Amino acid sequence: MSHDSVVTATIPRAARAKADAIAVAAADVAREVLEGDVAPADVGEYLGFDVEGERLVTHLFACTRAGYVGWRWSVTVVRASRQKNVTINEIVLVPGEDAIVAPAWIPYRERVQPGDLSPGDLLPVEDDDPRLVPTYFFGELEELTDDDADQIRNVALDLGLGRVRTLSLEGRDLAAERWYDGLGGPEAPLAQSAPHPCSTCGFLVHLAGPLNDLFGVCANGDANDDGRIVSFDHGCGAHSEVRLAKRNQPQPLPDHAIDTLHEDLEPI
Ligand code: SF4
Repeated sequence: MSHDSVVTATIPRAARAKADAIAVAAADVAREVLEGDVAPADVGEYLGFDVEGERLVTHLFACTRAGYVGWRWSVTVVRASRQKNVTINEIVLVPGEDAIVAPAWIPYRERVQPGDLSPGDLLPVEDDDPRLVPTYFFGELEELTDDDADQIRNVALDLGLGRVRTLSLEGRDLAAERWYDGLGGPEAPLAQSAPHPCSTCGFLVHLAGPLNDLFGVCANGDANDDGRIVSFDHGCGAHSEVRLAKRNQPQPLPDHAIDTLHEDLEPI
């Protein structure tokens, strides 16, 4: 077993396994084999043992290699039935409680956030994406040739059946929640100090379809939300009916004073 192997998976413990005296006493054997497999200077103090199963014991040694603070060498020994000696099962480096380990792996598909797409990037939607449902049904796609599927899609288009897939109820609810909780919703800082809601603003463009009872699109080029979805109870200071209080309005300038008593001085 290569000493460069790093295993982070936990080893399942056999329930109520009895400690095998010979396997437990084999710490020196484990160290000797370990030091033959990795640089002896990387092996530190003995940290104890774990009983993994019947005649199966793991001995742990501190790892003193630079950069591996908190990691431990794990040497598993096993004794075959009716044998007096153990054999080495595996040697791995495992992280202890204080070890610095990489965060859990997250698939790239789940890491993509809104705004991450660059021009030319493709982000295909899964066939079974719950946010979408088929608009019409014409049998199993896998049983059709590409030509057949194209032909059916064209006929569906001619019949006015529209897109192949449309937003499901789940997809609709997710969008509504996201929009309502986002910067176009009532909790946004801009909305909190708005004088009036979007529902009474002349710049609100109404949507068609199932989300039109809660959302619209802001069409005020001077507003932060221009071109974005806003909820009816969102709002901002650029509301169409906002009027400045008299004291906030620009004060008219006084008339010019014409000096008829003094001669104008010639510029030097
Ligand atoms: S201008 Fe302001 S109040 Fe009017 S629709 Fe846009 S965000 Fe809403």
